[in-house]
Amino acid sequence: MGERPRSDLSRRRPSPGSPVSRGSGRASRSRMLTNPQNTRSYEPPEEALSALFMARMHKIHRCKVAFEVDMNPRPTMRVLGGYYKTRRLVRVYTNDTSDGRRHLEELFDTFLHEVAHHLEYTEPRSFAASRCRRVHGLMHSRLFWLILGELKDRWERLQRGVGRRCS
Ligand SMILES: [Zn+2]
Repeated sequence: MGERPRSDLSRRRPSPGSPVSRGSGRASRSRMLTNPQNTRSYEPPEEALSALFMARMHKIHRCKVAFEVDMNPRPTMRVLGGYYKTRRLVRVYTNDTSDGRRHLEELFDTFLHEVAHHLEYTEPRSFAASRCRRVHGLMHSRLFWLILGELKDRWERLQRGVGRRCS
């Protein structure tokens, strides 16, 4: 069903209390690009999040099949979001049981993750070569990672002002 457990994210987060610094992996670097130090100063109200994320999404990919977004305030400890295929619903849990409201870029990260699941099901051909297929029984297929990587790459390029002329 595409739930996104916290362990999925923890790899790319600095451990609690440590300063945001250079990570070792690719994911850490991309996080720095999309999450400059001033990000924390702006946390939009919860009700504005889905419109904001949809506007961002619109800049990087026009989805062929619409989906619903549920920014769910129920505090969670481990699960960050989910994609519900039959309802075409992207759900993002906005609150952490102990830390409270999750930060904007972390929520957007989860949003992109769940949208990648949506795209994997609804328009696999928009992103993948024919050899990249969803593998039954595997929650995160090669196709999924390819789609998510592409979405993040487009968003990062947009943030850097690269490739604006491409449409
Ligand atoms: Zn997932």
